[in-house]
Amino acid sequence: MKKYKDGSFKGIGIGYAGEIEALVTVLHGKIHSIEFLSHNETPVISEPAFNLVPAEIIEKNTIMVPNVKGCSMSSRGIKEAVMNALVLSGEDKDTLIKEVKGAENLDKIFVTKNKFKPSENFDIVIVGGGGAGLSAAISASNLGAKVVLLEKMAAVGGNTLVSMGGINIPGSDAQKAKKIEDNSELYYNDALVGGDGENNKELFKILSENALDTYKWLKEEVGVEFKKDELIHFGGHTVPRAAVFKGKYAVELISKLRKKAENLGVEIRTGVEAKEIITKDNEVIGICAVSEGKTVEFFGSRGVIFATGGFSGNIEMRKKYNPELDERYKTTNQSGITGDGHLMCEKIGVDFVHMSYIQTFPIANPLTGALSHVGGSRFDGAILVNRSGKRFVEELERRDVVSQAILAQNGGVGYLVWAQEVEAVANRTTENKAEVNSLKRADLFIEGSIEECSKKLDINLDTLKETINTYNSSVENGKDQEFNRRGNLVKIEKGPFYIQTVAPAVHHTMGGIRINSRNEVLDIEGNIIKGLYAAGEIVGGIHGTNRLGGNAITDILVFGKRAGEKIMK
Ligand SMILES: Cc1cc2nc3c(=O)[nH]c(=O)nc-3n(C[C@H](O)[C@H](O)[C@H](O)COP(=O)(O)OP(=O)(O)OC[C@H]3O[C@@H](n4cnc5c(N)ncnc54)[C@H](O)[C@@H]3O)c2cc1C
Repeated sequence: MKKYKDGSFKGIGIGYAGEIEALVTVLHGKIHSIEFLSHNETPVISEPAFNLVPAEIIEKNTIMVPNVKGCSMSSRGIKEAVMNALVLSGEDKDTLIKEVKGAENLDKIFVTKNKFKPSENFDIVIVGGGGAGLSAAISASNLGAKVVLLEKMAAVGGNTLVSMGGINIPGSDAQKAKKIEDNSELYYNDALVGGDGENNKELFKILSENALDTYKWLKEEVGVEFKKDELIHFGGHTVPRAAVFKGKYAVELISKLRKKAENLGVEIRTGVEAKEIITKDNEVIGICAVSEGKTVEFFGSRGVIFATGGFSGNIEMRKKYNPELDERYKTTNQSGITGDGHLMCEKIGVDFVHMSYIQTFPIANPLTGALSHVGGSRFDGAILVNRSGKRFVEELERRDVVSQAILAQNGGVGYLVWAQEVEAVANRTTENKAEVNSLKRADLFIEGSIEECSKKLDINLDTLKETINTYNSSVENGKDQEFNRRGNLVKIEKGPFYIQTVAPAVHHTMGGIRINSRNEVLDIEGNIIKGLYAAGEIVGGIHGTNRLGGNAITDILVFGKRAGEKIMK
């Protein structure tokens, strides 16, 4: 067995969200312990990597261990941190780099050492552990059901977990605190304008009328906490409407939903991938799944709820329904969001609606597609300019409008520009330090004087200065002369300035499987498929041509909770 030099050594590696610092202790020549001193990896998603990778390194006494399925970037960051610590202990760096690279070819570590029987019986089988699946599990379980939830990734959360955490609620505490008048009709009307009137009106009515009750359910029964005074004014809404979960992203939401589900006795099985729907006499009775290479069947006496999210990450499906959105587009989505549920449902004759309506998010990383959280400065007052230094669109316009406007600019990119007045609204750069650092490393984010920023990004300085001066005069006059920007106008005057390069990426699929108002899935002739229910982004039609920001989280929670209730009635 390999012997290392005894002692404690610190090392830094780069994970998904920036630096991971580890303290590695070697005792009697063997790696004895690995302690993490700091990191910004996303809670819940990265948990399996932090639990399994160090344990594997210690057990095998080498950094040549595989990544955890679904947490590859965090796994690599952990190994790199341990590697750099071992280099400080005197190990040869080139040899260790070879070991880390060699580990990429090993089979991934699976999350759980699942010990399944070949078939198991429950009342309800839920497929997908995002916000919709977890809400359905809680509401069904509350009504006495024995529930199993299957999640193919290492951890639950899906896109819900990495969302910006904005949920539209007319009448939330934050709206009341800010004395904003709002109601479900105003909300309904905004969504219909946003979706060009093509929304399934019956379903959106249910959504808008149940948003406030679902918010109360989250607070009172699930224990979810919200930021007290913060609202996001997403594009297309007449008033600031999105309440924001406490903390980062939707970690608060998913952690509390998971905890509540576990307390109720829901069996959450991670690392289990649903592959096929089992039917008997035209009724859905279960799911055939695969875990660690083994086939397992899960039967639900009341049926199956599909909550597998959208298909933004499935390029073939995107091209089939909207050929424009091919390989050139990156996606903001989690790697597990690949339309599996749609494909399984298609095989048993489920009907689909609005499949060509696919949304791009305007403010993403042009290299990776990751949605930019620091770029949320757009909602606080940042302006968008092109390489000539000119504004070209109202920044709070609908996502499709802003995305297309950016793609039409030189290089297919836009530049968000803001300064300390805007920064003071929501502290985007301090709240998202890890993202800022990684954007800086890729030269996509520049901080400094307006001259420094524009020079580094090759933006026309004179025009940019003129644009900012005109905009600041508009702020003083209380009206944006150029683009009639809605929301609060905030000056861009006090340095340091920030300029960030952005491009659109595929973000949300409005199309999906057709359901009725009881969450029952319909076939191509409009008949109910017995035993099959669906909720969340997998469902099509609710948002029409274009989903407004903050409407998805409301949708998945209202209809997730509802699916769990309806399957029990
Ligand atoms: C970066 C980002 C930011 C966003 N921000 C916001 C926001 O602030 N507000 C808002 O309203 N919307 C936002 N959205 C959209 C919103 O997050 C999603 O529409 C919503 O979370 C979808 O929820 P869901 O439960 O339907 O699916 P998801 O949360 O995506 O969960 C689906 C789950 O199903 C699992 N799964 C898939 N296939 C299988 C299979 N075969 N077997 C087992 N499990 C499977 C997946 O791994 C995943 O965990 C954002 C989206 C992204 C990507």
